[in-house]
Amino acid sequence: MQRLARGLLFALTLGPAPPAFSHPFSFESRTLSARYDYVVIGGGNAGIAVASRLTEDSNVTVAVIEAGPNAEDLPEVFIPGLTGAAKSFSTLNWAYKTVPQENFGGRNTSIAAGKALGGGTIINSMIHPRAEKKQYDGWGILNDDPRWTWDALLPYFKKSEVFTPPNDFQIENDASYMDEFHASSAEGRVKVGFPNYFFPQSQLWASATDFEPSMDLANGHPQGTVGVSPNALDARNNTRCSAVCGYYTPFRDRPNLDVMTDVLATRIIWDPPSPNTTLRAVGVEFRSKDGQTHQVFVRKEVILSAGAIGSPKILELSGVGNATILKAAGINSILELPTVGENFIDHVHSWANSFTTAEYTRDSLKLDADLDKQQQRLWYHNRTGMYSAAPRSLSLALPSQLFEDDDELNEVLEDTRRDVEYYAELFSNGNKNLTRGIKWQYNFALKGWEEDNSAPVELNFEPGYAGPTKNFADRPARKFSSINAVLLNPFSRGRTHISSPNPTDMPVIDPAYYTHPLDVITHVKAIQRAREMLRMPPLDGIYDGEFEPGADVDSEEALTEWAVDTSGSDNHIMGSLAMMPEEFGGVVDSELRVYGIENVRVVDASIIPFPISAHLSATVYMIAERVCSPGAT
Ligand SMILES: Cc1cc2nc3c(=O)[nH]c(=O)nc-3n(C[C@H](O)[C@H](O)[C@H](O)COP(=O)(O)OP(=O)(O)OC[C@H]3O[C@@H](n4cnc5c(N)ncnc54)[C@H](O)[C@@H]3O)c2cc1C
Repeated sequence: MQRLARGLLFALTLGPAPPAFSHPFSFESRTLSARYDYVVIGGGNAGIAVASRLTEDSNVTVAVIEAGPNAEDLPEVFIPGLTGAAKSFSTLNWAYKTVPQENFGGRNTSIAAGKALGGGTIINSMIHPRAEKKQYDGWGILNDDPRWTWDALLPYFKKSEVFTPPNDFQIENDASYMDEFHASSAEGRVKVGFPNYFFPQSQLWASATDFEPSMDLANGHPQGTVGVSPNALDARNNTRCSAVCGYYTPFRDRPNLDVMTDVLATRIIWDPPSPNTTLRAVGVEFRSKDGQTHQVFVRKEVILSAGAIGSPKILELSGVGNATILKAAGINSILELPTVGENFIDHVHSWANSFTTAEYTRDSLKLDADLDKQQQRLWYHNRTGMYSAAPRSLSLALPSQLFEDDDELNEVLEDTRRDVEYYAELFSNGNKNLTRGIKWQYNFALKGWEEDNSAPVELNFEPGYAGPTKNFADRPARKFSSINAVLLNPFSRGRTHISSPNPTDMPVIDPAYYTHPLDVITHVKAIQRAREMLRMPPLDGIYDGEFEPGADVDSEEALTEWAVDTSGSDNHIMGSLAMMPEEFGGVVDSELRVYGIENVRVVDASIIPFPISAHLSATVYMIAERVCSPGAT
């Protein structure tokens, strides 16, 4: 009902996005008691899922501390066709800034991250695939724990979702699925389905790729295939289904769940440490918007779910991390854990786009005010039309689909093998254990490359403009076809650390983009492949000339320069509190417990030890489900 009312508002006011979030959600705990069984820091993709599952037991009390508001009922959040709009609200996006990136021509780039209940799932693009079976199996091998393998994890992927199979119309438009990889039961939570509007050029692209059609992009074998991605979408009414929609709104009245929004967790409070005892959390300190400091206390565990930048920040503010870094930041070291904030990984994003003669693209809504109004009406009246969908067709390119020349590929792989030790050492900040861990990661990834059975890159088709010229007024007022080229398996490893004791200061973030030479070589091949796809039959029928990279960017050197000047974050940050053995530089064990601390677990994308070939959200839900399932840990 509330959503319908908002829909009306949208119909009347859609236009430039409002400058700021207008909802007066605030720190208003219903029954804020001083002590809870669990305190969850960060009510994002993972945090709100964990809180929801834990409070299914009415004897368990949970408090959630979330820095952002509940933005679930904003049209820019729940209308699929407005995907991308909400991240432009500074109130909903941390918009983390990196330090100058040497291999990005010295640019400071921005990393988007959701600052709201639901975290990334509020502002993300709703693409909902899973990664490669053998990558999850790799987590199990690395941690010597068979409970972290595809077969063991599949039930938790399934448990997180309520899947709506594609209907005949969606199947005609290339949506496909395999029943054994999905579930739709009363215990499932996030609605997953396919859009009800397709731009015909997406289908043209699928045949232009010459990749195998995917049977299901969530079946553990996406590599080398092309298909329509499932979306985090409620197919009954064509609205986004975020972590809030799936895990919070239906359960928000539970008396044992207190969710505080617009409050910033500042540190974990420890039992005064004494010799020969393991460090133990007793509470969490947080700040409300008026600047007041508060505390909540914990009987069992603190769950750290503040994301791959927010979670290491909290540990460091609490005195857990590399003592030298903490000292420089003005924080007393309580527990030396030198790899906190290291092994930081992000997928890297680039594009190729062309003008198109296709009748409609997403640009049409901006170019034609009458069409825009008509499409708004369609969405409002029966949830159809361009606003009802955020369609994305994905292909996951194998090395042989990027490098046409075997000799060139083999040479690149030989160079990478030769330099494994060098780069593992370079990225491990002097930590011998982490050098071992990164070496392991490289050898694992290289095997996938050498067997031509792992996807270092995703190419996804967008029926509209996607590229580095973000401002509409700065590009030709025309329709576009775009291919996003996402580097999924970077070999570069960066770091994120605090530099001051002030919890409102941004950490110093260095993703070290393109520092490993394989990354830039692979990405340039992918951009080249993307621009070729735009001109291949049958997509050539609607091709009307390349816009970016542009006709003058024709040699590999020129394309490399363009990538260095324009590539950016794909906002898939992970790895900074990696689940790896301690002797490999890990921060959490395979129960997700922080080494050396009795009762703090990390449950978010920070624990993903090495990059995976998928957008992260489905995997993050799976991690949350697995941790909460009885008998799983
Ligand atoms: C613009 C964008 C597009 C994306 N597109 C896709 C996509 O299409 N498909 C996909 O699968 N993935 C996508 N992703 C990635 C995906 O959404 C994230 O990787 C995932 O949601 C991260 O989950 P998380 O639990 O690790 O962190 P988050 O969901 O970011 O949760 C962390 C939470 O902690 C809160 N927090 C942080 N610090 C504090 C503090 N000190 N005190 C209190 N609270 C705090 C944050 O506000 C946030 O709510 C996208 C991400 C972005 C930003």
